[in-house]
Amino acid sequence: MGSIVVVGSSNTDMVVKVPRMPRPGETVLGGTFFMAAGGKGANQAVAAARAGGAVTFVACVGADAFGEQAVQGFREDGIDTEYVFTVEEAPSGVALIMVDDGGENSIAVATGANARLRPHHIDQAAAAIASADVLLVQLETPLETVEAAVALAASHGTRVILNPAPARALDDEILQHVSVVTPNRSEAELLTGLTLDHPSRLDDIASALFARGVDVVLVTLGSDGCYVATSDRREQIPAFEVQAEDTTAAGDVFNGALAVALSEAMPLRDAARFASAAAAISVTRRGAQPSAPHREEILQML
Ligand code: ADP
Repeated sequence: MGSIVVVGSSNTDMVVKVPRMPRPGETVLGGTFFMAAGGKGANQAVAAARAGGAVTFVACVGADAFGEQAVQGFREDGIDTEYVFTVEEAPSGVALIMVDDGGENSIAVATGANARLRPHHIDQAAAAIASADVLLVQLETPLETVEAAVALAASHGTRVILNPAPARALDDEILQHVSVVTPNRSEAELLTGLTLDHPSRLDDIASALFARGVDVVLVTLGSDGCYVATSDRREQIPAFEVQAEDTTAAGDVFNGALAVALSEAMPLRDAARFASAAAAISVTRRGAQPSAPHREEILQML
């Protein structure tokens, strides 16, 4: 079993389905409500655990019911929560999500405890990161913390997967330590300053990221699948055809499953197919963490 450390955010998603988005000052009635565990880091940790990885999650939650419930959920999925820190200074992260009839969403996130994840927490988890096969990080926690984790992993030969989400520009300091970078379309554009107005631009995006020190560029393309590039090979891998119900966290499930496949030393192309199968299953289900499939389901899809 491959070992994976995920460093990142944990949120509680509160979702209201509305017939249409309320305008400022307006109240719209008639929505149904559901609550589910979310946050990019937590989603990816859960996806990796269900896909068959031995997962340690490094995160901060608040000293409240949401934090307790989140940690309980991680344990149920067999995740090592030794480095899920409970902080007194801030409440657990919360995302308020409205989804309208057309499937469009509006999201407000109260970062809360996620902003309290600092480099000293990485120091505490140093042995776990140093001995892991893969470190998986995103950008929903302070950048200096992500940088500390990535530098530590690189110095111990732990392979780093960076999912550069939410989208932002990054300096070369962090990218030089990254083995695999996994942007979606808009994140790829923001990361490189290039516009993805034609599929051939993917090659330019890959070249730009290779020049900055990354070994593998994997751009996820929603229902169009994903593009995988190394310095000597570039190809597009189609998505599995499914009836999409809720694409929330498709990218998170993809990254969690990808981390498992790479921790098992699967060849890159097979790893991308494993991740695509996991993500395709997740879009047929509602919610972030509830939608992440188990390994048997992924293998069956393949
Ligand atoms: P994000 O959720 O981060 O925006 P994408 O939309 O690119 O990321 O989706 C990530 C991956 O999830 C895709 O590469 C694909 O494998 C899978 N996926 C997303 N949408 C669908 C879909 N409608 N049908 C099948 N697979 C999908």
